[in-house]
Parts: sequence; structure tokens; C-alpha cells
Amino acid sequence: MRIDLHTHSTASDGTDTPAELVRRAAAAGLDVVALTDHDTTRGHAEALAALPQGLTLVTGAELSCRVDGVSMHMLAYLFDPAEPDLLAERELVRDDRVPRARGMIAKLNGLGVPVTWEQVARIAGDGSVGRPHIATALVELGVVPTVSDAFTPAWLADGGRAHVEKHETDPFEAIRLIKGAGGVAVFAHPAASKRGRTVPESVIAELAAAGLDGVEVDHMDHDEPARARLRGLAEDLGLLVTGSSDYHGSRKSCVLGEYTTDPEIYGEITRRATGAFPVPGAGGA
Ligand code: AMP
Ligand code: ZN
Ligand code: FE
Ligand code: FE
Repeated sequence: MRIDLHTHSTASDGTDTPAELVRRAAAAGLDVVALTDHDTTRGHAEALAALPQGLTLVTGAELSCRVDGVSMHMLAYLFDPAEPDLLAERELVRDDRVPRARGMIAKLNGLGVPVTWEQVARIAGDGSVGRPHIATALVELGVVPTVSDAFTPAWLADGGRAHVEKHETDPFEAIRLIKGAGGVAVFAHPAASKRGRTVPESVIAELAAAGLDGVEVDHMDHDEPARARLRGLAEDLGLLVTGSSDYHGSRKSCVLGEYTTDPEIYGEITRRATGAFPVPGAGGA
């Protein structure tokens, strides 16, 4: 069984539509894929409708969080998408992305970059708007050669010249909300230090005590020492260990199934979840 528990579609900042994503996941030989767009479940219906035979969809989202001034991401799996408290928080975070993107565009204009909201909105389509969309606009304008090159202190990196913070949920609150909606909470790429400061192990221990289910260990942004350290921490704290591609289509270099999750861990995630169940594909359109 090949299980990839973290992917993005055009419902946020990936470049494949949800339907394309599940078709590619099946073609890549995956048995299970989780769709985890940033702060939204909007892609789920399309992915379910297109789900090929032999592929199982795990519904999820990646929630934007911040603790002690450090941004972090919480993967939420198999929660009830209609549960009102988690839904309200997702909408708050997602909706705040719009004025925040406008703020970053204003800062870029102040730096002499002629990017416009219309351009960014065209790139984002109806997806939850984020820095990768603005970065794509900067590539179009010839300001930077690649999307990645926009994630530097000169431009959009955390604390960078054109960066604006968005509303982000306290992760202890996120865990409470995810559990309240019957979901499973996994700390995404906890050691992705290229992206800025990371959450200290003492806080991961507190999150574990507050009900965190697992940590994502096998991820492109973790080197081997970071993975070993996280594996040890997970063992000490009794956390599940996952692996995933964090696929974003052509906006990032990783491929579907680049890293995967052990079937036993996947089984445990599905046993813990009560808000939704994995859906086996019936051969969608
Ligand atoms: P936002 O949610 O708008 O703050 O944007 C953060 C997203 O940008 C992350 O979820 C990543 O998908 C993406 N990202 C962060 N760093 C990089 C990078 N160096 N290159 C490409 N994408 C990145
Ligand atoms: Zn993303
Ligand atoms: Fe993330
Ligand atoms: Fe992600």
C-alpha cells in the first residue's frame, strides 16, 4: 500500500485541479491520497466525484497556526466538514488571506514592483489565496526566476520586506477544534527550518499532552538528522509518524508519493477518526 497524506490542489496553492490530482495520484500508483488544501475543504467534492477505482481519498485540510510568534501548519484528517466551530475558524483564516494578500501587494508596489490584485486573483482563481500565488506573479513580472526565489527576506519570506502576517490559529485551539469535529491532528513538517523559525520540542510535548495525534517526519523539507530527531521525539511522546509529498503540482518540485506513510499508521489514523471516513474510488468521471 502506498499512502500519501498531504497534497494541495487549485482549491489552495496547488496547480492541479482536485480532479486532476486524484487521477495523477492513481497514475502514480498510490492506493491512498489525502487532499489537504490550506484552510479549506473546497476541493473535496470535485476530488470525490472524480476518484478513480483503486484509489481511496482521505479528506483533510492544512490549518495555518501560530504559537509564540512562530507560524506552523496543522494537518487535520477526516473531520466533519460541517462541524460549525472548526468551519468558522477555517473561514476566518481563509477569508483573512484576501486583505493580507492585498497588504503584501501594497508593500510590493511600495518597493517598485507593479504587481496588481487583479493579476494575483487571476492566478489564485477560486483557490484560498496565498504567497505562492503572489510569488507566481513575481515570476511572471520577471522579478524573481522561480517561485522559491520569492520566499526570501527580500520578498515574501516570514518577516521579509513584503510579508504580511495572516490570522493564524493557536495550535492548542486547533487541536481542540479538530478533535471536536471528530478529526485527527498531525503537526505538518515540524522541522522545516528553511521556512523560518520552528516550534521547540518543549511545545511539541505540550501539544502532545493536549491531544496531538502525530508528526509528519518524512517530508522534503526535513534532512536526515531532523527526521531522526523527530522520530525519537515521536517515540518519547507516543505520537504517530507520517510521511508525505506535500505535492503542489508544478509550483513545487516534489512528486506525488515522494514520501509515504506506513499502512499501520494510516490504519490507526482511520480508527481514531469519527468525523468522516476514507472514501474508496468507484471510478469517477
Ligand atoms: P501562505 O500560506 O500564504 O503563508 O504561504 C505559505 C505556503 O508557501 C506554504 O504552505 C508553502 O506551500 C509555500 N512555500 C513556503 N516556502 C516556499 C518555498 N521556499 N518555495 C515554494 N513554496 C514555498
Ligand atoms: Zn501550500
Ligand atoms: Fe505546510
Ligand atoms: Fe502543505
